[in-house]
Amino acid sequence: MITFEKIVMHRLKMPLKYPFANSSTTITEKDILITELHDKDGFTGYGESVAFDAPWYTEETTDTVQHMIENHLWPLVKAQQINHPSELALNKISRNHMAKTAIEGAVWDLYAKRTQQPLYKAIGGTTSQIPVGAAIGLQSTDEQLIEKIKQALDQGYQRIKLKIKRENDLNILEKVRAQFPTTPMMVDANSAYTLQDIEHLKKMDQYNLMMIEQPLASDDFIDHAKLQQQVETPICLDESIHTLADVRTAVALKSCKIISIKLAKVGGFTNAIKIHDYCQNHDIPVWCGGMLEAGVGRAQSLALATLPNFTFPADPGASNRYWYEDIIMPEVEVNNGYITLPEKTGIGYDLNLKKTNQKVLT
Ligand SMILES: [Mg+2]
Repeated sequence: MITFEKIVMHRLKMPLKYPFANSSTTITEKDILITELHDKDGFTGYGESVAFDAPWYTEETTDTVQHMIENHLWPLVKAQQINHPSELALNKISRNHMAKTAIEGAVWDLYAKRTQQPLYKAIGGTTSQIPVGAAIGLQSTDEQLIEKIKQALDQGYQRIKLKIKRENDLNILEKVRAQFPTTPMMVDANSAYTLQDIEHLKKMDQYNLMMIEQPLASDDFIDHAKLQQQVETPICLDESIHTLADVRTAVALKSCKIISIKLAKVGGFTNAIKIHDYCQNHDIPVWCGGMLEAGVGRAQSLALATLPNFTFPADPGASNRYWYEDIIMPEVEVNNGYITLPEKTGIGYDLNLKKTNQKVLT
């Protein structure tokens, strides 16, 4: 039986090596909260809030995550005794999936350490080798974009994902495809379009893309279904998918052919596994999107990507693609387009936390 003793919240700012721009915003540093959860038997598990400092992706921010943990989630978790992480009951609290994941991920890490197995095996993963792709943000010039793609391919990344926006999409695809005609490639619009752009979006079919990620608004299952009927390129939903019910809606309406599962967006491993299994049973391949995670969130996302229906290369790549110095040792590395997860217990990496603002809750 696991009984929780205390949680330490570490807050730190990490500057990105390169600014990351999408159709909504440009990120230059990440405001990170790491949770360090202790049980009464002396085991420790780590979790990460991957929320951004502003609510452009979902409604949560690092500040709302800290507030939810301090005032709502920790009191709820502290009162529970569990044998297995799937027994953790957080449903009394509505949504707040990133805050829940910051604790739920730590519970799974702690459980894997208690049971002396790597986290990926504890969740039912079937491989320690994860194929990875590179996500490339909007660049100020086309030349810079071409250069970034070249670098990523030289580093072995297996597919390229380009962020696009309405004013700068077909012309970029034209240039990129001329240079890289056969590279596995996809685009992510972060909801930059509406159904009025349907004729425009149809033109993307000629570029042989693996998928168009989240072209329309996050709550627009009906319009995504109308669009998917008209375009050959598979639509992938990302921002639309927060719950298993969202996936069931998307499958019933045929709003997409592919789903991006992000651990933090769906409230942790237990929900992510259910969504994975449902997609597998309905012939919807999934893949693991990235949130510019620091090491803990990165290791946990990669553990999730070892489940068998994760079909396309994952977004979270090498630590040094994003950070001057990551908070884990060793850092995550990509070799020949794959990340190999360690066989150590739990997330498999040691923490390297230096200057953080700490707050202890008991
Ligand atoms: Mg996305």
